[in-house]
Amino acid sequence: MLRMDGFTLRHARSWAEAAALWQEASLAAAGEPARGPMYIAGGTDLLPNLKHKIFNPGVLINLAALRGAVTETATDVVIDASTKLDALAADPLITRWAAPLAHAASVIAGPQIRTMGSIGGNVLLDTRCLYYNQSEFWRRSLGYCLKAEGTWCHVVGGPKTCVATQSSDTVPVLLAMNAQLDLLGRDGARTLAIRDLYKFNGMDHLSIQKGELLTTIRIPKPQPAHGATFRGSYQKLRTRDSIDFPQLGLAITGTFDGPAVQNLQIVVGAVNPQPKGIRGLEAFDGQALDAANIDAITDLVFKQTRPQGSTHGDTAWRRQMAVVYTRRGLAALAG
Ligand SMILES: Cc1cc2nc3c(=O)[nH]c(=O)nc-3n(C[C@H](O)[C@H](O)[C@H](O)COP(=O)(O)OP(=O)(O)OC[C@H]3O[C@@H](n4cnc5c(N)ncnc54)[C@H](O)[C@@H]3O)c2cc1C
Ligand code: SF4
Repeated sequence: MLRMDGFTLRHARSWAEAAALWQEASLAAAGEPARGPMYIAGGTDLLPNLKHKIFNPGVLINLAALRGAVTETATDVVIDASTKLDALAADPLITRWAAPLAHAASVIAGPQIRTMGSIGGNVLLDTRCLYYNQSEFWRRSLGYCLKAEGTWCHVVGGPKTCVATQSSDTVPVLLAMNAQLDLLGRDGARTLAIRDLYKFNGMDHLSIQKGELLTTIRIPKPQPAHGATFRGSYQKLRTRDSIDFPQLGLAITGTFDGPAVQNLQIVVGAVNPQPKGIRGLEAFDGQALDAANIDAITDLVFKQTRPQGSTHGDTAWRRQMAVVYTRRGLAALAG
């Protein structure tokens, strides 16, 4: 049996109280940073990591009492970060304005985890690796690794780079739809575009300060010109459809006026520490997604997608599957 070390559990009734509790616990643990506080939302990722002794916080600040909700303004769909994944997948505002996000949330893990897991925890999910998400005994037997307690990356075969994977299913869609994140920390509130959140560094992949809370995710409502429609999709590659993390996640969005596409976005997730927005798609603005253009777009995806071996599945196969999913997704969106 995997046992957790002891910690104190503090319950927050609001985002402001959670931030204040973090400051208090952080000051109390100043002499022992490894025992500093952490937030826990659904705990579906954090608790396994505590059992594996990847983290050892002295205080957990529980966000479970916060009641998630999805609301709207004239321009945005506004998602409270504590919203549970199953509620998100079924929410009428999400299915109306951001259907690919509803689908992405609906294929995360299995039903029990979607009932507990939150969208905030999904966006801020730690990077994952075959050599890291293991028990302490397993990791110690291997001499640990660069991301935790060791000096060597077993994937890259070197002492400098960690390529653990950002594996959240909702993230490629949130990037494609240009979501904005409201954060609350020591220095107050600020907004960060999700495209500026992730870094290509598996050990430190988030551009947020220690203790900063994600409180809200805002998705701009697609506003296609008269007669045009917004369309999007999310496709996920995994071994077992009932539970597994993605080995590849691919979001495609665009606005269609007849056959002509505008603002085509393709984001590839679960291959690197940083989800990959495919560059060069503006060249297809105003063009039909015919066979020649689909070939050209899949070529861009192939060239720009370099899966790492930190996740299950042969890297060359996952790269080819990015091409297959792009082709399928574009053909479906083009009708
Ligand atoms: C068997 C299994 C299968 C899974 N499959 C998938 C999958 O297919 N796809 C997928 O995307 N995920 C998967 N997950 C991971 C996880 O369940 C989800 O990512 C979930 O959304 C995490 O949310 P949570 O609320 O449980 O986060 P928690 O575990 O509570 O927290 C995760 C991290 O985020 C931080 N955090 C949480 N909320 C906030 C906040 N508001 N502000 C600041 N920090 C915060 C925590 O401190 C922690 O570091 C799986 C997990 C398991 C155990
Ligand atoms: S990619 Fe390398 S350093 Fe990072 S978690 Fe995996 S083995 Fe460790």
